[in-house]
Amino acid sequence: MPQYNRLRGTKDVIPAQTQLWEQIIMKAARTLKLYDYSLIVTPVIEETALFIRGVGEGSDIVMKEMYNFQDKKGREIVLRPEGTASVVRAYIENSLPVKSNLYYIGPMFRYEKPQKGRDREFYQIGVESFGDPTPYKDAETVKLAETFLKELGINAFEIQVNSTGCKECKPKYIEVLLNFLEPRKAMLCEDCLKKIERGAAIRVLDCKNEKCRETVMSAPLVTAHLCEPCDTHHKLFLEALKINGVKFIENPRIVRGLDYYTKTVFEFITDKIGAQQNTILAGGRYDNLVWELGGKKTPAVGFAAGVERIAEVINAGGGFTTEDKVDIFVITDKQYIKNAYALVNTLRESGIKAVMSYEEKSFKSQFREADARKAKYAAIIGETEIQNKTVMLKNMETGEQKETNEQGIINLFK
Ligand SMILES: [Zn+2]
Ligand SMILES: [Zn+2]
Repeated sequence: MPQYNRLRGTKDVIPAQTQLWEQIIMKAARTLKLYDYSLIVTPVIEETALFIRGVGEGSDIVMKEMYNFQDKKGREIVLRPEGTASVVRAYIENSLPVKSNLYYIGPMFRYEKPQKGRDREFYQIGVESFGDPTPYKDAETVKLAETFLKELGINAFEIQVNSTGCKECKPKYIEVLLNFLEPRKAMLCEDCLKKIERGAAIRVLDCKNEKCRETVMSAPLVTAHLCEPCDTHHKLFLEALKINGVKFIENPRIVRGLDYYTKTVFEFITDKIGAQQNTILAGGRYDNLVWELGGKKTPAVGFAAGVERIAEVINAGGGFTTEDKVDIFVITDKQYIKNAYALVNTLRESGIKAVMSYEEKSFKSQFREADARKAKYAAIIGETEIQNKTVMLKNMETGEQKETNEQGIINLFK
């Protein structure tokens, strides 16, 4: 018999881990609804051109990491590498209301060398808010991100914020930056030289290479080169964060890897996983993307977070108690299986997690199974119970037993 293995760079998320995933998704959905967001589901496959246009030709994603192929009709298809461009396309294509708050959860794909914490398929939770140009919305989005992480018990992070300017001031700043980098090229890594060549000089600022970091220490800062509207926006954004009670630090070296950002950008950084500082959530404003992808000029702001990384941070902090306990294990003799079957059904209808063994087994082996499933109670139906129309309820932790009936059990769990 052949044996099949999952593809390189992909993973199975098995029940020992999905209990945590369920918590993350459920709590995320609750927080996002509180902030008036609605779920949007878009296809995993899209036209390759969407991301070349959306994410930017010079970005790492488009240059190196697209999981693309031709379909049977020769169309250029890509497994989506990120969520924003897809959501923007859907926003335009479905003529959604100008002001729309949308969130998504799903797999993204990047074809890169698989390494620890970097799979070719990974899950992201993200939000995109359309139609609000104000810095208050930016601050609200950061607050939402903070609430979302705190609801998951994640508190050890630093919020770093910056502005990357707009169509007016960004190119002028890049000129200034290029003039600064030109005489210092010898001090930059191979990768950074390539970034400059392909017009992504701004990304030299967040290079992790030690020498590059030293070199850009004295580089001119984007925040000192913002145009008047961008500067006003940024200052009000910082003020609104303070009103929201968000603790942040300004980091003028945050630029994000995607070309579409304008004005506000932010990252949530933690040192709780591994030695390096890690970004657990990131986002920003992108006021030109809807228009660049064929829609009306619409301001927008959003963020995305990796589910795997969030799970890792939660686990590093001791995790949740996510034991999948059974409420009641119903135990019976073979001639009363039908009675037990009916009881399990009634209990479930009352919202009680009840299980039993449908196979004919000894009492002893049923109790063993109840133990293995970490059942809180065992409900025993034997001859006496059938005659008295009762159930013997045993507390599996204390060993205490009492005679009760169906309604008694339901009341106990209310
Ligand atoms: Zn500007
Ligand atoms: Zn570098």
